[in-house]
Amino acid sequence: MNQKPNLVIIGGGIVGLTIAREAYLVQKFNEITVIEKENKFAIHSSTRNSGVIHAGFYYLSNSKKAKFCSSANKMLREYCSQHQLPVNKCGKVVVTKNYEEEKVLYELESRGKKNGCDIKILPKNLLSSYESNAKTYENFLWSPNTWSASPIHLIENILKELREANVKLLCNQKILNYGENYLSLSSGEIIKYDFLVNATGAYALNVAEMFGIKTHFKLLPFKGLYLSTKLKRYKMKAHVYPVPDIDQPFLGIHTTLNYKNELKIGPTAIPAFSPENYTLLEGIDLNFLSQLVPLQLNLLIKNHFNFRNLALKEIKFIFKQNILKEVKKIINMDLNENDFNWYSPGIRAQLYNSKTKSLENDFVLKEEQNRFHILNSISPAWTCSLKTAEYVIKHLVKNL
Ligand SMILES: Cc1cc2nc3c(=O)[nH]c(=O)nc-3n(C[C@H](O)[C@H](O)[C@H](O)COP(=O)(O)OP(=O)(O)OC[C@H]3O[C@@H](n4cnc5c(N)ncnc54)[C@H](O)[C@@H]3O)c2cc1C
Repeated sequence: MNQKPNLVIIGGGIVGLTIAREAYLVQKFNEITVIEKENKFAIHSSTRNSGVIHAGFYYLSNSKKAKFCSSANKMLREYCSQHQLPVNKCGKVVVTKNYEEEKVLYELESRGKKNGCDIKILPKNLLSSYESNAKTYENFLWSPNTWSASPIHLIENILKELREANVKLLCNQKILNYGENYLSLSSGEIIKYDFLVNATGAYALNVAEMFGIKTHFKLLPFKGLYLSTKLKRYKMKAHVYPVPDIDQPFLGIHTTLNYKNELKIGPTAIPAFSPENYTLLEGIDLNFLSQLVPLQLNLLIKNHFNFRNLALKEIKFIFKQNILKEVKKIINMDLNENDFNWYSPGIRAQLYNSKTKSLENDFVLKEEQNRFHILNSISPAWTCSLKTAEYVIKHLVKNL
């Protein structure tokens, strides 16, 4: 290729925007364009999450999450510090409720050590000096590098960098037509590309299929509801998480502190009917609904990966008191329902693997000669965004 190539990124969430930033930094591309369907960037998962910079100890060492997360944690903490973005260096404790969970705690420690995380298991008598409101059975895991940052400040800063770098940022665009090296947009513009990245979050599977990628995945979204409070009487020092079911990609209802040290409780994992169905009827996508309802019914009947039990447990969390009751299993605090408000929910772009009949736990990266699709962009994809961007651009540049 004599001339520098053009890069087009579909999807303007944290993943798409950090890829655009990395593409600019390596200086190997001519025009870099980000295409977003909404009239603002990053209004879905990327700003509807817990804002927790995960350390990387949950993941099996052969997974992409494990390969990315520990260094991604450092990259994101350093990025926030260099750009003076607000963070909360609170750290996190993972606590247990019984002997069985203690065994899982040691499994997390073992995974974390393999993944290069700075973590340690400590006895119960030390818990109060890390988080006096937390309770545990025997021991707890301490992760000093599990901080939180502000998803909105982060996005604003990346957008500022992209504008300064003259990256073309196109909002409110639908892709009407496409070919081997062009996209035709609803604005009438035709964008030519040499390389294309699909970073469309919950829509990534659809976009990949549009480009002929065949998979054994289906989207199975889960809604994360949160409760939040600004009251000073609920002051805590660290995030408190339960030991999760390590076969599922969810972490269980926990407490997190945002960058202002305000308490948030959640998120739930309630089966959702569309990827942007935040309130009862908002964002219902009939195309998704017609595929999802039969899949959910089938899973309810057959109970693959314990879906029925999970759904029955989670549906109770549409009531505030049930969320508070659940979190009281890991903290000793009087929680008054009236002090907590519902906070904007998020929906996980979770994929169901119809071959293994289970939820896909890892990121799924589909690499083609000149296209790259990022599927199953679930937690900790926000933490991992700078690292994922580095990986994707390295792969594309290799093909120059
Ligand atoms: C409740 C919840 C809590 C979470 N907590 C954390 C956490 O604490 N830490 C962490 O690391 N991760 C967390 N995550 C995960 C994290 O938020 C996501 O993995 C991450 O934000 C995914 O980013 P994304 O850019 O891939 O997706 P998105 O933010 O969804 O962005 C995709 C973008 O593509 C656009 N798009 C879709 N289709 C098209 C199209 N055809 N054309 C143009 N544009 C299109 C969408 O409008 C959207 O803006 C959480 C997720 C949820 C739901």
